[in-house]
Amino acid sequence: MHRSEQGLLVVLSGPSGSGKDTVLGELGETVDDLELSVSLTSRERRPWEFDGTHYYFVTREYFEEKLRAGEILEHTQYVNGHYYGTPKGPVDEWLALGKTVILKIEVEGAARIRAIYPDCVSVFLLPPSLEALERRLFGRESENAADIARRTEIARREIARAGDYDYVILNDVLDCAVDDLRAVLRAERRRAARRIKLIEEVLKSC
Ligand code: 5GP
Repeated sequence: MHRSEQGLLVVLSGPSGSGKDTVLGELGETVDDLELSVSLTSRERRPWEFDGTHYYFVTREYFEEKLRAGEILEHTQYVNGHYYGTPKGPVDEWLALGKTVILKIEVEGAARIRAIYPDCVSVFLLPPSLEALERRLFGRESENAADIARRTEIARREIARAGDYDYVILNDVLDCAVDDLRAVLRAERRRAARRIKLIEEVLKSC
């Protein structure tokens, strides 16, 4: 990262089970100055998840306290009414430092973030089919059949809104999806509008 570059806010959506964590896990190794926002949630931790890495797992009461205190940038209630929300502080701090900040959130949250940060970049991760999605949800053995049915139904509605996003990446072959996301980040960081200060700096050096 050049010190005069502006930060880049990226909203990544995709139905539950579309592979957002897996794609981000692979990407994290190879992209500099990347920060993944860690949301607060009141849902239960899955066996492979770590507190502070995948989410901050909190009680409903704690979440509501943070909400009242104005410390949540946006939030939603998902399956079984569980809260999910983006902590406000770190996002603005990272952007001010010129970092690439990724928010992994669902479509309603993405729309709210677009309204707050109009120059954010939005990416939708598309599963190859609803059937494949359902298979992945069953495969991870963390939800019961009723929850999976609810998540698949939400997925259908979310996929119908993929056209609202700047980019749609198909997650059929993992490496291809990771390459695609990396390419989007590289290109977006090089947009002229994000490099005005850099241009001025080079001109001043003549
Ligand atoms: P899961 O329970 O599968 O981890 O997440 C359910 C959905 O909530 C996913 O689509 C995920 O991207 C979304 N989500 C996670 N954190 C947030 C958040 O902070 N805000 C919003 N709006 N959605 C979130």
